[in-house]
Amino acid sequence: MAVTTTVRERRGERPPLGRLVDLAGQTALVTGAASGIGRAIACRLADAGADLVLVDRDAAGLEETARLLEPLGRTVATRVVDLGDKADIDRLWDELAVDPPGILVNNAGIYPGRAFDSVDEALYQKVLAVNLDAVFWLCQRFVRARGRRGGKIVNIASIEAVLPFKDDLAVYSVTKSGVIALTRALAREHARRGFRVNAVVPGGIVTPGTKHVASDVLRGRLGLVKVGYDFMQRLPAGRMGDPDEVARVVLFLASDLASYVHGAVVPVDGGFLST
Ligand code: NAD
Repeated sequence: MAVTTTVRERRGERPPLGRLVDLAGQTALVTGAASGIGRAIACRLADAGADLVLVDRDAAGLEETARLLEPLGRTVATRVVDLGDKADIDRLWDELAVDPPGILVNNAGIYPGRAFDSVDEALYQKVLAVNLDAVFWLCQRFVRARGRRGGKIVNIASIEAVLPFKDDLAVYSVTKSGVIALTRALAREHARRGFRVNAVVPGGIVTPGTKHVASDVLRGRLGLVKVGYDFMQRLPAGRMGDPDEVARVVLFLASDLASYVHGAVVPVDGGFLST
């Protein structure tokens, strides 16, 4: 079992760095683990010793992530779940109820672009269901299942929640603002019950999802070419980010390195929101 930071240590002694970051004996549930940022998060948490429950709707991608983790020798379970379906989420937690994970990373998300005036109810409901409702219900089941044992939640939001930059993402922005609001509400309500709840705000990370958007640029959609150009002009780092650069911050928040961090909203965006 990982030894958590004690009150005595917090008052003066310095726990060894290796122990602070050690997740051995803990299990982390990561959603959207079949691709991009979620896969990178799974790899980093496993590096730190965590066992994993990998959740996605993409069975083949999940198996690929599990295969990448094999050399680390962790216990890895994969669960094919449509997070847009609350019944699927409930079935998942019913299975996990006996020994629930102590770390929950809500990473799965979709970002379909659609002009505001042509958003229909089906698209609206789908983006809400996957990006916000699922996070809400997963957090609720996690808090119920963990009870007095507490736990750590890291939610993945987006720069679009703070500074909408690309057109056609109004629904997405709404959901990600909701994720930040939920994070802060839970952090306040549940800190004294042993939960730490924080959010990471990525921006400009190269993943299969964003490559798909970039391929639209290559297909010559001029509006997107301009957005891409403007984005890079504004970006202090002058380059796009790697999924592992998000994963390292998630590891920090999930570990005892962040033992006094509650309700934080941490950008990992090459400085985009600072300019
Ligand atoms: P991605 O498309 O590469 O991966 C997303 C994963 O979520 C996929 O494996 C997909 O199968 C899974 N998923 C989607 N809908 C699902 C559903 N209904 N049920 C189960 N799984 C589902 O995306 P990414 O770029 O790695 O993004 C990961 C998260 O980071 C998302 O929440 C996204 O909004 C957020 N984000 C990404 C960026 C970026 O620059 N890449 C920026 C801001 C926020």
